Amino acid sequence: MMAAAVRSGHLSACSAFAYACAMPSSEQTIYLHGPSWLAGWLSNHAGAYPHSEERMQLAIELSAINVAEGTGGPFGAVVVDMQSGRLISAGVNRVIACSASMAHAEMMAITAAQQKLGCFDLAASDTPDCALFTSCEPCAMCFGALPWSGVRHLICAARDGDARAIGFDEGPKMATWRSQLEKRGITIQTDLCRADAVDVLQDYAKRQGVIYNGRHAA
Ligand SMILES: [Zn+2]
Repeated sequence: MMAAAVRSGHLSACSAFAYACAMPSSEQTIYLHGPSWLAGWLSNHAGAYPHSEERMQLAIELSAINVAEGTGGPFGAVVVDMQSGRLISAGVNRVIACSASMAHAEMMAITAAQQKLGCFDLAASDTPDCALFTSCEPCAMCFGALPWSGVRHLICAARDGDARAIGFDEGPKMATWRSQLEKRGITIQTDLCRADAVDVLQDYAKRQGVIYNGRHAA
């Protein structure tokens, strides 16, 4: 009965969480999962993508599909091997679907790459030269996660101001975020295919998509 109430949306998010915590379990297991269409999308994109614009268009395509399918927020990201041009992983925003505030597209793509390669450090000596292509600049959380991930290159489409313009809180990101990442050896490119990524953000706003901000967002 409780599960039915959760499925039908009769419980608040916190009640649903309390129910999940009450489930008998011998260990704590955390679930993060992509939408059902993502595996098929990945298998259709197994080739090499030599140009930066092509790689970014894949991240933007993911964001657009996520909006069209109603499977999450208007953000997409891919981790690419800079040398071969092949995709290592892909991620879309899954905050609501996974009941996880950290399930931003960048975090999903990075975590998927780390688990696929079997290493928490994407800069380890036996890993590919990993680049994160994201449809929007990282928020404060994703910015903080980048140095720990080992990703060596960051390429962004929309600016965080573009996300803020439709109501998203990007958090207290320092003004020097670019130089802070560069100091840690991460190369940065911004505004690549920005207009296409902004179109997806604007489409999400037009559809009145959920703005799932944290509390006390500015
Ligand atoms: Zn983020």
